[in-house]
Amino acid sequence: MDRYSKITNKNPREIVLLKAFPCAWGKCAFCDYIDDNSRNEAEMTALNAQVLQNVTGELGVLEVIDSASCFELPKPTLELIRRIVKEKNIHRLFFESHWMYRRQLQKMRDAMGVPITYKIGVETFDNDFRQKVLNKNADFKTPEEVAEYFDSPCIMVGIKGQTKEMIDRDIDILKKYFKLGTVNVYTNNTTAIKKDDALIAWFREKYKYLDDDPAIEVLYENTDFGVGD
Ligand code: SF4
Repeated sequence: MDRYSKITNKNPREIVLLKAFPCAWGKCAFCDYIDDNSRNEAEMTALNAQVLQNVTGELGVLEVIDSASCFELPKPTLELIRRIVKEKNIHRLFFESHWMYRRQLQKMRDAMGVPITYKIGVETFDNDFRQKVLNKNADFKTPEEVAEYFDSPCIMVGIKGQTKEMIDRDIDILKKYFKLGTVNVYTNNTTAIKKDDALIAWFREKYKYLDDDPAIEVLYENTDFGVGD
């Protein structure tokens, strides 16, 4: 599996995919990422250190992702990231976190000593679909609530049961309330949540222009950032 890459088109940055403890929620209906989680701290710490050795700092920005929230990374890994930030003159980090950790984001910023752009897997701002169908356990009601804590929501498009209106509204919200955003075009995995090919075709056509929007990254495959398998 590729765990290090460089993103050079939008928001240039190095990116690493690290291993973490299982997501504390772990019950989203579409999620089968847990295969990359572990409970063996020593093993994860060693692997993460190996991956982090690739970081050069050449772009000044580092994104760290794992198959959970940044708060589920082993402590020694977080300590190593902090050291690398200092040594390689990294001036910004991108981290990802679930809504449940929203009150801990600032503590992590203080610990890392550089600004952190926080991504959040919102999946959709349609509260019913997010909570009842996707079982996301992120009970905010408005985009303003999310924007109070997070910088860059990730939304998913092309799921069976989603509507064009829901997607239009989600893209509008991304543009109106947030500086950055990610759109993940849904791909089937081992869960019962399935993609809707017609909806995806409609999205690709209507929102082709997002490919040229510097603030929105559209991922057509899970591996579009160059990490994962
Ligand atoms: S919060 Fe993320 S890692 Fe946790 S279950 Fe949901 S999608 Fe999976």
